[in-house]
Amino acid sequence: MKAVRFIEEGRPPEILDVPKPAPGPGEILVKIAGAGVCHSDLHVLDHGIGIPGPFTLGHENAGWVAALGQGVTGWKEGEPVAVYGPWGCGLCHQCQTSAENYCERHASIPSYGGGLGSDGGMAEYMIVPSPRLLVPLGKLNPTMAAPLSDAALTPYHAIKAALPLLTPDATVVVLGIGGLGHIAVQILKALTSARLIACDIDEAKLAHARQLGVERTINTQDGALAAEEIADLVGERGVTVALDFVGAQPTIDLCSRIVGRASRISVVGLAGGTLHYSPNMPPFGCEVSIPYWGSRTELIEVIALAESGHIRAAVETFPLENAVDVYQRLREGRIEGRAVLLP
Ligand code: NAD
Ligand code: ZN
Ligand code: ZN
Repeated sequence: MKAVRFIEEGRPPEILDVPKPAPGPGEILVKIAGAGVCHSDLHVLDHGIGIPGPFTLGHENAGWVAALGQGVTGWKEGEPVAVYGPWGCGLCHQCQTSAENYCERHASIPSYGGGLGSDGGMAEYMIVPSPRLLVPLGKLNPTMAAPLSDAALTPYHAIKAALPLLTPDATVVVLGIGGLGHIAVQILKALTSARLIACDIDEAKLAHARQLGVERTINTQDGALAAEEIADLVGERGVTVALDFVGAQPTIDLCSRIVGRASRISVVGLAGGTLHYSPNMPPFGCEVSIPYWGSRTELIEVIALAESGHIRAAVETFPLENAVDVYQRLREGRIEGRAVLLP
């Protein structure tokens, strides 16, 4: 079968022929319906970020159960499933609570998950090492649902932790209306009635946010000007929650400038910016969070939000063979919503 392989940092991905895998004891073979193309893959391709290759990319996957390894029961062939992406040890305290994204034994586990150290879903089939890592998709179409397992789960986790602050009189700012950000604004609209401001440096992404029902959008190309515009909108109270889906120096600095006292900054993006602290910048009472992905329980909640029609990934599909071009399009900001590769 064809697979999109990460070889080593600094090299573009390669489309190679690899053998169809067979599930070992306790494992499940999943036939892939779609694999989302996440910006994190660009960080891996460019800088490695501590994840050595080679392996098959694709950490945002959904498909159908194709075969059960020895000893696996309870799943039927053909059942549509989302693959829960952050694979932990399954045994530590965090994993027991289903938060494998915060596995306490991560340092002794050889990979972050399929597509991030182990072979992922940019291929016709992938091996999932345990049935606990599959979540039923119900009536959702697995191709369109693939982004739920990261592009929706990651912002859902960040937003859920911020919910106590997201009262109807609060203001929430979303920075970066790409794969994660365009679902973040939908989750915020579904779960809160806080005033929502969407920010990006790309007018097409801001237009997308308006299509999704966001009333206030701001171009943050000029950070100082954007901070003034936001201050005019929110007044002395400042922004209550800033969700940064970029994580570059300009967006982290902007978050610090726009939040008020007793606020929260969540830095989700991995673009390598640094949060500087000096007294009252960010302001006193500001919580800073660096969320990573989400728990398996939260993936079940995200799937329920999609099933009830509250959130929907805007998906552009491409044949797997076009992966190199699709990564280039993502790099240049030419994907609206999420690109999904079809094997
Ligand atoms: P994407 O490329 O689809 O979207 C990024 C968006 O940010 C684009 O719309 C782009 O125009 C915008 N942008 C770029 N620079 C900007 C700036 N200076 N100011 C405002 N907007 C700017 O990317 P994505 O797949 O949504 O991923 C976003 C980030 O989140 C990446 O860094 C990715 O690695 C990271 N990520 C983190 C986690 C986690 O668990 N922490 C999970 C998934 C992705
Ligand atoms: Zn990702
Ligand atoms: Zn663990």
